[in-house]
Amino acid sequence: MEYKIISDTGMNVSRIAQGTWAIGGWMWGGTDERESIRTIHAALDQGINLIDTAPVYGFGVSEEIVGKAIAERGHREKVFIATKVGLEWHDGSITRNSSPARIRQELQDSLRRLRTDYIDIYQVHWPDMAVPIEETARTMHALFKEGLIRAVGVSNYSPEQMNRFMSVSELHTVQPPYNLFERQIEGDVLPYVRKKNLSAFAYGPLCRGLLTGTMQPDTKFSGDDLRLSDPKFQPPLYAQYLSAVQQLDELAQERYAKNVMDIAVRWVLDQPGITTALWGARHPEELEAVAGALDWHLDADALAAIDQILRQKIASPIGPEFMAPPANNAVAA
Ligand code: NAP
Repeated sequence: MEYKIISDTGMNVSRIAQGTWAIGGWMWGGTDERESIRTIHAALDQGINLIDTAPVYGFGVSEEIVGKAIAERGHREKVFIATKVGLEWHDGSITRNSSPARIRQELQDSLRRLRTDYIDIYQVHWPDMAVPIEETARTMHALFKEGLIRAVGVSNYSPEQMNRFMSVSELHTVQPPYNLFERQIEGDVLPYVRKKNLSAFAYGPLCRGLLTGTMQPDTKFSGDDLRLSDPKFQPPLYAQYLSAVQQLDELAQERYAKNVMDIAVRWVLDQPGITTALWGARHPEELEAVAGALDWHLDADALAAIDQILRQKIASPIGPEFMAPPANNAVAA
């Protein structure tokens, strides 16, 4: 495993983290608790020491499974738990809420579900325009000072929102979407991360499975699977993305004797500013592929060839905006 320090914290986190949205089941067609726990144990066995979760993943289920898996294994102190705050749910629909009262309440709920008395990295999940960012930041700063959280993070924030946040609180980590097919952060968030020496956790490095090389033209999704609402998985875009995957796979094999999944994750890890890629595995055997992304680098020629494939194959790249939860209607100053 490769490791990297989160600036100003001394936390030496693995560059591949276990992402646990799918483990919560919601929007991923359900979950299996024992299989999920086996997956988390397999991640720890591989040297992964960072687990990313959120209350909203399965409405508590993901955090509970993470808590149980760590308790069964023991050595809580060897694992970095990254969880989130600021989304509430009612009858399956989500709204943003980063008010101080909500943050305090959610922290207690997360500590209970995770069976711990501190959170290593606490991240505001989505910006909430109904609450002044400074108010949210002040509460996060207070939790940090109280020792309840060891690092402060935000997710899906713009540089302007981070500027406001940092006028009141320390900020250590940023969690944006980032993968070969979703590169919007290169225009703003990633340069900001570098300039401010923050640590970025890239979510969706496999583009929800699209970059694994296992998706077929006739792959079907069912139930509440979010890929049913992801435009990349619908015609006519799906065929373009699959064609790009095939060419990327050929490039990986010819140049490095690797596959598309290996270069997709290596590409994320090689971008300056990226600390960690959050890998959304939910079966232990899916983590066997982690080794293929580690301990090598893409050279400049390969990076240029990758960009050329993307330009040729994908006429109008689209981002992950479809995932954004509805904004709270009220707008704060
Ligand atoms: P991802 O990691 O890009 O992709 C997950 C998909 O990859 C799943 O469909 C899984 O397949 C597949 N997969 C994983 N390993 C594989 C393997 N070895 N072979 C074949 N397929 C494999 O997407 P993600 O789960 O959306 O993102 C990762 C993590 O980022 C999440 O778990 C969560 O912690 C975080 N996240 C955060 C936010 C945010 O707003 N902050 C948003 C999204 C995600 P199966 O479905 O078959 O298991």
